[in-house]
Amino acid sequence: MNVPLLDLTLQYKQIKDEVEPAILSIIRSQKLILGKEVEILEERIAEYSGVKYAIAVSSGTDALLAALMAIGIGNGDEVIIPTYSFFATAGVVARLNATPIFIDSDPLTFNIDPYQIEQAITHRTKAIMPVHLFGQICEMDKLTEIAKKYSIPLIEDAAQAIGCQFKDNRRAGAFGLMGCFSFYPTKNLGCFGDGGMIVTNEDELAKKLKQIRNHGMEPKYYHHHIGGNFRLDAIQAAVLNVKLKYLPEWHRKRRKNAHLYNQLFIKFALAEDTTTNEFNEKNKVLLPKAVYKSSEIIDYHIYNQYIIQVEKRDELRQYLNSKNIGTEIYYPVPFHRQPCFQAIIDKNKTYPVADKLAAHSLALPIFPELTEEQIEYVVQTIAEFFYNSKK
Ligand SMILES: *Cc1c(COP(=O)(O)O)cnc(C)c1O
Repeated sequence: MNVPLLDLTLQYKQIKDEVEPAILSIIRSQKLILGKEVEILEERIAEYSGVKYAIAVSSGTDALLAALMAIGIGNGDEVIIPTYSFFATAGVVARLNATPIFIDSDPLTFNIDPYQIEQAITHRTKAIMPVHLFGQICEMDKLTEIAKKYSIPLIEDAAQAIGCQFKDNRRAGAFGLMGCFSFYPTKNLGCFGDGGMIVTNEDELAKKLKQIRNHGMEPKYYHHHIGGNFRLDAIQAAVLNVKLKYLPEWHRKRRKNAHLYNQLFIKFALAEDTTTNEFNEKNKVLLPKAVYKSSEIIDYHIYNQYIIQVEKRDELRQYLNSKNIGTEIYYPVPFHRQPCFQAIIDKNKTYPVADKLAAHSLALPIFPELTEEQIEYVVQTIAEFFYNSKK
């Protein structure tokens, strides 16, 4: 059996009959940048996320960059972020000549540990940018409390988390001053190229973001701010307008797959439950933890990735590869160990949780179209690996 980490051709088959005419109509109109499809998408994403405004941009990275530009982040400023995330989270801060301040992760959710943030705040701290990693929201009550107490804006990196909910039912992006989404093809809602979105409830900020995405311009050739070309293509918006209605179904299928993985890991005696977080004889595999799971909240975790932890991660990965099972390591090197950040890190600070995650975490295939047989094959093969390594 072959189980790729992700196979987007299966999703494409589901939407082909709708998406092909939608793209064709854009091509025939030759109205290629921003425009009606983009406006429709902005309205729908704002409504779905429970916010007033959504501003479509060219990528998730550009969403983060434009958000930081909109609040004037620059030279000498500090932005607090997790050390364990995709590079864009740190890259956008450094590109504006500000300093990213790295915080260790919570061992259960893999998200920024909110209890380490206050001690990192200085008079230079201009934003806190939590990341809802792998599709699970951060501890937003604690984060909003800190942001309020110190009057520091929260900007949510919700690139992997569109639609995921907190315990008060609110969705990612609706908590901070701004929330940023990515429509990169591997995200739960992906377009046919690059795309992103910024959401906010603030009227003035929404206006400013619209200008920033188009060189700070309004009307034509009158520039209020230094912006950039962060515009979204009409074709990408048309694709997303077809896909958005399927998102709840895809979230549900990802969650169903995660649930089946959990059950099977327990059945094969590789894990005891979904709460244990220490390796031992009964827990060779540490399962992901959905901490806000409850009967009232539907999208408590949208499983953009299903992440297990195993001690001999690299050996397991090699074994799975030899059995045609695709995996990935998100992320092998936390920011505090990246070569490009060695000049700015505090050498006295340690990040034990992020280091442990970098050494042991492994992403298994979780996309909606996986079959039960494929998931069984993955868990069975992992059981085989542990059985063989005992001999
Ligand atoms: C994907 C991602 C981004 C960047 O989004 P792009 O659309 O690829 O630019 C930023 N942050 C996180 C956490 C991501 O996963």
